[in-house]
Amino acid sequence: PLAGRVAVVTGSTSGIGLGIAKALAHSGADIVINGLGDPEDIDRTCAELENSAPISRVAYDGANLMKGEEARKLVERTVDQFGRIDILVNNAGIQHVSPIEQFPPEKYDAIIALNLSAAWHTIRAAFAPMKEAGFGRIINVASAHGLVASPFKSAYVAAKHGIVGLTKTIALEGAEHNVTCNAICPGYVWTPLVENQIDDTAKARGISREEVIRDVLLAAQPNKRFAEVEELGALAVFLCTPGGRSITGTALPVDGGWTAH
Ligand code: NAD
Repeated sequence: PLAGRVAVVTGSTSGIGLGIAKALAHSGADIVINGLGDPEDIDRTCAELENSAPISRVAYDGANLMKGEEARKLVERTVDQFGRIDILVNNAGIQHVSPIEQFPPEKYDAIIALNLSAAWHTIRAAFAPMKEAGFGRIINVASAHGLVASPFKSAYVAAKHGIVGLTKTIALEGAEHNVTCNAICPGYVWTPLVENQIDDTAKARGISREEVIRDVLLAAQPNKRFAEVEELGALAVFLCTPGGRSITGTALPVDGGWTAH
């Protein structure tokens, strides 16, 4: 259903972004992969993606989205190379877990830059070509933490609530032009981002790794399981198909019931 569409997925060398990129490619879209990582691993990932989804073209762009200018250029290079941008998935993100008194200010700045401001810059660059084409699907990967808070994640929760607000604003600006903008709000998904925060969470709360998984992570999710990246990919594809046309300005939880509490 997405043949001929061009999609940029930020932070798609790993985790949820890669899951969304695969799902879009399998639906026929051309994909620009972005993110950090070992160049050989990235080459392998792109080749696998292209071979498993034979009608899609796959390109890699190594833009460092900590810088607004790089975020803008990622979109501009995509339009130069593919002639269009139909789908923009703002997914790149990082986490840091610490009580506010010890939270390093530079970590706060980095989280706001990547998890919030990068999306503002990519959207700003993609909006005119989407509006002109009369088609655009912008998907921001927010989080359950875009809807509710947890202690020790002050920067992340601020950025994720911010991106939900950005999502609503862009939905209003795009509504008459068939440019939709939605936030996907995952609960816990087993990716490197989650794995890497277990030790810091254990330290901040004074409990063991096993207790973090059982009493913090899965305790938040009534269905008691981690979501899989394929579930986020399926939702992203749906939002880009004709069935998703009237869905805009939403923050869609994919959290096993967490935010229903
Ligand atoms: P991940 O660590 O597996 O992937 C993060 C991606 O961002 C990687 O591709 C990485 O290379 C890229 N990235 C990091 N710094 C970058 C930079 N400066 N420029 C460009 N790309 C950069 O993490 P993930 O769990 O897949 O997270 C993806 C998104 O999903 C994040 O926005 C995260 O906040 C959100 N999320 C994750 C979970 C979860 O449980 N894993 C839950 C809710 C929301």
